[in-house]
Amino acid sequence: MPELTLEWTDINQRQCHRIGDQRVRIGRDPARCDLIIQHPTVSALQAEIFFNADRGQFYVRDLRGEPNPPLVDGVRITGGEAALHPHSLIYLGQVAIKIAAIVVAANADYGLRCPNPRCGREVAYEYLELACPWCGTSLAAAASTILP
Ligand SMILES: [Zn+2]
Repeated sequence: MPELTLEWTDINQRQCHRIGDQRVRIGRDPARCDLIIQHPTVSALQAEIFFNADRGQFYVRDLRGEPNPPLVDGVRITGGEAALHPHSLIYLGQVAIKIAAIVVAANADYGLRCPNPRCGREVAYEYLELACPWCGTSLAAAASTILP
């Protein structure tokens, strides 16, 4: 299970939040967000953080656009997304959120998912040059996946 730890200060209170492989929406509006930041410079619904299993990385995505896009490591990500790294800094309005830690399941085996929709089984990487052992579909276009 991947895990990302966020740290920030909101209205003079230190906050800490852990994110797993569930999408987390961030903003001021408790009705729409999983993680609430009350500072008035933060948008009602501003960004979301999610784990991209294909790439094995956490990402932050802009949900607000202009005029208040998140800033990640000094880069505006208007309408886009950016990969997160340990010690990355996300600015939402004037609130700086620090990526305190990222753990991507160290002993997970990455594999392939068969692209045949009727099959969709997880297959070890060794089959990349061969074909799905279950249905014979070529795995050249298979997405990578974390094997359980
Ligand atoms: Zn298959």
